[in-house]
Amino acid sequence: MKQIRNFINGEFVDSATWFDKITPYDGKVVARVGQASQSDVDAAVTAAHGALSGSWGTMPLTERLAMLHAVADEIDRRFDDFAAAEMSDIGQPAHFIRHVDVPRGAANFKIFADVVKNVSTEFFEMATPDGRGALNYAMRRPVGVVAVICPWNLPFLLMTWKLGPAMACGNTVVVKPSEETPQTAALLAEVMNAVGVPKGVFNVVNGFGPKDTGEFLTTHPKVGAITFTGETRTGAAIMKAAADGARPVSLEMGGKNAAIVFADCDMDAAIEGTLRSAFANCGQVCLGTERVYVERPIFEAFVQRMKRGAELMKPGLPEDPASGMGPLISNEHRTKVLSYYRKAVAEGATVVTGGGIPDMAPALSGGWWVQPTIWTGLLDSATVMREEIFGPCCHISPFDTEEEVILRSNDNQYGLASAVWTTNLARSHRMAGVLEVGIVWINSWFLRDLRTPFGGSKQSGIGREGGVHSLEFYTELKNVCIKL
Ligand code: NAD
Repeated sequence: MKQIRNFINGEFVDSATWFDKITPYDGKVVARVGQASQSDVDAAVTAAHGALSGSWGTMPLTERLAMLHAVADEIDRRFDDFAAAEMSDIGQPAHFIRHVDVPRGAANFKIFADVVKNVSTEFFEMATPDGRGALNYAMRRPVGVVAVICPWNLPFLLMTWKLGPAMACGNTVVVKPSEETPQTAALLAEVMNAVGVPKGVFNVVNGFGPKDTGEFLTTHPKVGAITFTGETRTGAAIMKAAADGARPVSLEMGGKNAAIVFADCDMDAAIEGTLRSAFANCGQVCLGTERVYVERPIFEAFVQRMKRGAELMKPGLPEDPASGMGPLISNEHRTKVLSYYRKAVAEGATVVTGGGIPDMAPALSGGWWVQPTIWTGLLDSATVMREEIFGPCCHISPFDTEEEVILRSNDNQYGLASAVWTTNLARSHRMAGVLEVGIVWINSWFLRDLRTPFGGSKQSGIGREGGVHSLEFYTELKNVCIKL
């Protein structure tokens, strides 16, 4: 049986206790994962703290950034290993993993190295009463040991989205992958050693969240900042832990995202984009659409085309070219998603398609499969219209006016992303201004330029990452005032 060990101070280390990694498509155990104890976490944070003042701390910027380019190149060289690990961890179709997770994950190291290289800081000349003046300039310095707490839904992409800027800014890191998806972090540790990243700069501790590895890490006094992606209630717990020692947090959390489809849209594009945003990664994308509002004249046609599209998505194994969708991540998550499927019906939804578990071949019947599901007929107050489900499902409602749909889509505790489908440029700009979210897509979804700000408003997040915005979190900005 494959063993996934924690990576502390440049070495893979054994653990006293182990837990199972189960593949979501057949329910089989594929690996044993070392569970990091409090003392393992302490060793990892201590190593990361020590590495701040070692060769990493004194390394010229160009050398550090070249090392991150080498990390990306080594990931590319081992592309198939990363793709296989990610497929085994999350069970999604190979084309998605090969076109999104792994290449974007590698790119995160290069993009942020380039950002750090090219961003300047401010400079002010100041008059003083003696006439000689003073100069002010700012410099950026690392915040220290960054705890990186990751979710399971796009494990490699979301982990590197934080590691890239954290390391480019000169911090050291202790990563806690999700207990569901430990495999790519272990591969990344091999990559760090292969390209010569100094010992202690990059550490991985595996385990669970509350009262376990995650909490040991976020409460460790030598952790200087915590960056987290995951559920909103976990983010709140982490924020409380960070209050001790007044450590900064960057929180990327849940969503209940709306797509708004106007009658003047390019219908083919709107259908293609909404099918993707509702069902990609089996609906387990924080930016995914669970509420769709369609202008009444095209409502019926839109629902019928979504139904046809959903019914063409065949569930299957990652490497099967016919596979349009993988399973959910775990039995526990499937139980949660199916409970929402039942709740939708109990609250009066019309099930347009799906609503249950698909028939699978005997070899796959132990996996966590669910049907892509579309509902109509619910009020905005229904449970499945308000709470994040994080499964392959959406509700489609008609609307009549722009004012109405703005109020309805904003009426939610989350504020992560929206997709607006219209060919009216003035309207799209108007909508972008009033939607209470961190990201608005017009006539697209999941199109990401990594230089742009990423994050959520309301209960979807605190802070922005991406491009220069990541520097705000991963560095201390220090002002130097020189009296002439
Ligand atoms: P989760 O909150 O259950 O777990 C995320 C991580 O936090 C895991 O590594 C977990 O072990 C750890 N954790 C849990 N409790 C902890 C604690 N008390 N202290 C320290 N660590 C703790 O989230 P998940 O189920 O892995 O991911 C799905 C969620 O993530 C969804 O809500 C989704 O919307 C959200 N998400 C948000 C974004 C975004 O960018 N906004 C991106 C992806 C996923």
